[in-house]
Amino acid sequence: MRNVTAQKVAAEELRLANEQLQAKLVEIEQLQGKLRDDAIRDCMTGLYSRRYLDETLQREVATVNRGSGYLSLVMLDIDNFKNINDSFGHKTGDVILQNLGRLLQEQTRSSDIACRYGGEEFVLVMPGSRVENAYQLVEQLRLAFGNIKVTCGETTLQATFSAGIAVYPVHAVTADELLPLADHALYQAKTAGRNCVKIYESSQPFHFKPYDNAEKLLGLNEYDLLNLNRN
Ligand code: GH3
Ligand code: MG
Ligand code: MG
Repeated sequence: MRNVTAQKVAAEELRLANEQLQAKLVEIEQLQGKLRDDAIRDCMTGLYSRRYLDETLQREVATVNRGSGYLSLVMLDIDNFKNINDSFGHKTGDVILQNLGRLLQEQTRSSDIACRYGGEEFVLVMPGSRVENAYQLVEQLRLAFGNIKVTCGETTLQATFSAGIAVYPVHAVTADELLPLADHALYQAKTAGRNCVKIYESSQPFHFKPYDNAEKLLGLNEYDLLNLNRN
């Protein structure tokens, strides 16, 4: 009788220990998930971080490449943001950053990747989007953002952004080249007076590698030529 009771007590203790262990494992998994999320998410806007963008862009371009498609990359920068901070305070600036973050999350496709690149700069990666689709969407975002009213005491203000677009493989043949080209287009938008969207325009003709049998290239379109150049 004593043996059976001791066995039952031991079995119950074991069951309890197992239960506690399972609970701990679940907790550890949740913490690991949160840690990973913290690393790839910007805590102020909830958008992806620059680190996530760095990890992802090459992969997205490779995926698009396999399907012979396009990928548009948009760089957005809030206009005169320093003035807004100086005039209305950092907290108002933060609200504006969060508004743009929410807009980028709500008004883009689930396959698009919206990141806070740093400060008041954002990057939107649009796999599968041609330049005209990207332009249309960013124009919609620009108008929507410009209509958001933010109140600070007695004052109501509306912020704007400028944006630059570069498209793979039209403007660049590697993922690394794409971001500086979008940044260049953004600079063109800023110099054009801000609150506008510019598509990258190259002042340089595209340079092809020399081929032994150039006549083979005759009859190929621009897209095929870019693909050839990449190989
Ligand atoms: P431009 O139109 O040429 O982009 O001018 P700008 O004033 O937006 O650009 P500038 O680079 O001079 O200023 C960016 C400002 O963004 C300065 C910095 O204090 C502010 N900023 C960066 N990160 C944050 C943030 O997390 N919160 C707030 N409120 N401000 C930030
Ligand atoms: Mg900036
Ligand atoms: Mg700015």
